[in-house]
Amino acid sequence: MKILVVEDEHKIANAIKKGLEQEAFLVDLAFTGTEGYDYASTEDYDGIILDLMLPEMDGLEICKSLRKQNIHTPILILTAKSELEDKVKGLNTGADDYLAKPFAFEELLARLKAILRRPHNLMDEHLTADDLMLDSQNFNVTRGETRISLSKKEFSLLEYLLRNKEKTLTKEQIVSHVWSFDSDVLPNTVEQYVGYLRCKIDKPFPEKKQLIQTIRGFGYSLRE
Ligand code: CA
Repeated sequence: MKILVVEDEHKIANAIKKGLEQEAFLVDLAFTGTEGYDYASTEDYDGIILDLMLPEMDGLEICKSLRKQNIHTPILILTAKSELEDKVKGLNTGADDYLAKPFAFEELLARLKAILRRPHNLMDEHLTADDLMLDSQNFNVTRGETRISLSKKEFSLLEYLLRNKEKTLTKEQIVSHVWSFDSDVLPNTVEQYVGYLRCKIDKPFPEKKQLIQTIRGFGYSLRE
């Protein structure tokens, strides 16, 4: 897992980097707000540790700008206790957790691991492709004006395909994301469910773009 640490106090930044590397994380450091923001918005990180008081651009500003750009990388904010009280609490910045300085490294590690376990894209309630729309909060699916009724499994499969739009997904990837470990998945189960889904989101709309594609020898892809 790759973590970005944005912290202007070099001593703290280096200590966090060293500690995380011992836990087998890959760590990038940024020492100013703009540097941190540039890294966070261009590189793909699994998590960001973000100091609040930074030169050039402060942590809250970075956090808000990333969320505005639809970047939902989990963020743990570091802050002095006084700042935590009067600035951060109640502010809807889009951060996942806060940790007050000074902190023990074990505490930082535990908080970081907790936010990394959360699903990333919970914020994207509406997933779309062409005129297909899936509302993951209300379990609602529509194509244009037509409402589509899906089983729970079909819904999970469509949600997974939409979150990975334009990517080719193998049957193994689909099984591991859509079915639980203990369910009986036969070799043709994915094929079968993709077939059900096609009959509901593509086939009734022959004049529209057919979204689910079979990539022979590899798997499936949902493409606009
Ligand atoms: Ca600072």
